[in-house]
Amino acid sequence: MQDNMISMYQKAHRSPRHQENDHLKKPATDWFTIIWMVSIHVIALFAFWNFTWSGFLWFLGLYFATGCLGITFCFHRLLSHRSFKAHPIVEGFTALMGTLALQGTVQEWVCHHRIHHQGSDTPRDPHNARRGFWYSHWGWLFIQHDAISNREKMNKNTRDILANPWLRFLSRNDVMIACQVLLGFALLFTGGVSWVLWGIFLRLVAVYHTTWLVNSATHKWGYRNFESNDLAVNTWWVAILTWGEGWHNNHHRFANVCPARYRWWEVDVTYGIVCILESLGLVTDVRRYPQEAHDEFNRLKAIKNAARVDDDEEHDRTRHVSGQEPLYKPSN
Ligand SMILES: [Zn+2]
Ligand SMILES: [Zn+2]
Repeated sequence: MQDNMISMYQKAHRSPRHQENDHLKKPATDWFTIIWMVSIHVIALFAFWNFTWSGFLWFLGLYFATGCLGITFCFHRLLSHRSFKAHPIVEGFTALMGTLALQGTVQEWVCHHRIHHQGSDTPRDPHNARRGFWYSHWGWLFIQHDAISNREKMNKNTRDILANPWLRFLSRNDVMIACQVLLGFALLFTGGVSWVLWGIFLRLVAVYHTTWLVNSATHKWGYRNFESNDLAVNTWWVAILTWGEGWHNNHHRFANVCPARYRWWEVDVTYGIVCILESLGLVTDVRRYPQEAHDEFNRLKAIKNAARVDDDEEHDRTRHVSGQEPLYKPSN
C-alpha cells in the first residue's frame, strides 16, 4: 500500500526532464492493430478472384477520394499544418473522406503528424526512420505510443481539432468505424461482394501502403532541394502514388507552406486541387514559399554546380594523364 502511494507520488511529481524521456520507455505491443492489419490484408487478397470493372472503378474513385482529398488535402495540409483555409463544407466533406481511409481518427492522425514534424527522425518521432525502413513503414503502428494513448497529451496537441464540432464528432472511434461499415453495406447492396472487396478492402490496403511510403521511402531514397537535419528526401514515384506528398524534403524544410512541389517538374496534384478551389473562392489564405526558400535553393544550386565543375575538371585531368583526350574543355 505504502509502496503504491510512493509510486503514485513519484509518477505525479516527475520532473519535466523525466516526462520528456517518456518515449524511451519500452512501449506495449498493440495487438488489436496487428490483428486488424493482418485481417484487412488477407481479405483484400480475395479481390483478385472477384474482379469486376465497376469494382475497379470504385477502387480508383475511393483511392482518390480518401487518399488525395481525405489524407493529403485535408488531414495533412489543411488540418495538421493549416497551410490554407477551406470553406466549412469543403473541410467537412474532405475530413469525412480522410476518416474513411481508416488511418486512425482525424485527431489521432493530426497528433501523430505534428509530433513527427516536432522531432523528425529522432526518438520523439512516432515513425522515426532511423529505426529502419520497415519500422517507419508500418512497424511503428504495432506499438502503443504515449502521445496517442495519453489522451490528455493528445488533446493538448490538437485543441484546434476539438474546437470544431464536426471534427470532434469524427474523432470518435465508433463514428470512424460506423462510417466505414455504412459505406461497406452501401457497396454490398448496390454492387455485391466485388464492390466491397475492391472499394473497401483492397482500397484500404493501397491507401495504407502509399501513405506509409511517405514515412519510409521518402525518408530514405531520393534527393534534396533544401538543407535539413532530418532524413526527408524527394522521391518522384511516391509523389505520383500520393498525389504530391513524395516531395518530402521540400515539405520538411517548409512544412507550413501548402505546395509540396518546388521545381517546375515536381508534380503535385493536391496543390493543383487547392489552386482550382482557390480560384472558385472555396479555399483562401494559401501559404506559398517565402523568398527565403528561393534564396536558399539558388545558393545550394550554385554550390552544387561549382562542385560539379570541380569534379569534371578533375575527371578530365585523370583522362589526360591516362592518354585520353577530354571530351570538352571548361570555358574558364
Ligand atoms: Zn516526414
Ligand atoms: Zn507534414
